[in-house]
Amino acid sequence: MAHEIPELKVENLVVEYVTEDAVVHAVNDVSFEVPKGSTMGLVGETGAGKTTTALSIMKLLPDPPAKLVSGKIEFAGEDIVPYSEKQMDALRGSTVSMVFQDPMTSLNPVLTVGDQIAEVIRRHQRVSKLEARTKAKEMLELVGISGDRAGEYPHQFSGGMKQRVIIAIALACNPKILIADEPTTALDVTIQAQVLSMMRDIKQKFDTAMILITHDLGVVADICDTVAIMYAGRIIEYGKIEEIFDDFKHPYTEGLFGSLPNLQKRHEKLKPIKGLMPDPSDLPTGCYFHPRCKYATAECAKRQPKKTYLSDTHYVECLAYEEGTGVKIEGGDIK
Ligand code: SF4
Repeated sequence: MAHEIPELKVENLVVEYVTEDAVVHAVNDVSFEVPKGSTMGLVGETGAGKTTTALSIMKLLPDPPAKLVSGKIEFAGEDIVPYSEKQMDALRGSTVSMVFQDPMTSLNPVLTVGDQIAEVIRRHQRVSKLEARTKAKEMLELVGISGDRAGEYPHQFSGGMKQRVIIAIALACNPKILIADEPTTALDVTIQAQVLSMMRDIKQKFDTAMILITHDLGVVADICDTVAIMYAGRIIEYGKIEEIFDDFKHPYTEGLFGSLPNLQKRHEKLKPIKGLMPDPSDLPTGCYFHPRCKYATAECAKRQPKKTYLSDTHYVECLAYEEGTGVKIEGGDIK
């Protein structure tokens, strides 16, 4: 069977921030694919390179200091890296849309929410003002807000409602790719669950390819099909949701799960990962995780791990799974 062209494909992406004093290695050879209708969770601590990856896909990184050093970013098989700002402007909102972290600052306080949605529609589609306004009301209904509220201003909405409006704006032109960067972090837990379930419904309805950026594995379990675990600008483990949740292999992924409270084992203490993410302008030699890894050997400081495939869809970057490195996980396996 012919391999279907993914809606989004990122290949060997390298992004740096170059300043007078240092070169910050933010994204270090990242590759992944997101097929139509599928959601990939991009997970890792702050500073892992998740948002830089997302902004590269949108081509919204400030250049300088940011520099897309190498790699491809393909929308339905077409590399957009060489695209001009004008070409990208036509794609943003219509082909690819992004929901940013903070709903409070993403809306214009002096425009009604209906006008803000209609503005995006009018920018990308040849429709009359009236048609755009009618569509804006439909979008509000889609995200669970009455269309009658289209004439209200952002301050008249709660945090959760504002985030729904932002999602309505992002989806107004039916984009093929949606990138949601910590879309529920600023919301309280019950509202989080409502917004996530709404996003899941919309994704199914429109068959949107989605990247969900989060540090919260609970959110990933709820909505994602695949998971990419990112550390120091690299994807160090990738797999289908069940492969990562039931059979994770990387010591860092183990650490992420160890930092989660377990309701079944309430008496057990959390085991947070010791140490901090390395300074991206001064990355360690060998495996970037070795200064924090409880299984590290001298070899880990010398060699950078390659991808080892454990199935067609699950890979890990750790020397313990590579032949002939001599690095072993104590007990033979991570679990
Ligand atoms: Fe740990 Fe070594 Fe594997 Fe890196 S390569 S994750 S340091 S065991």
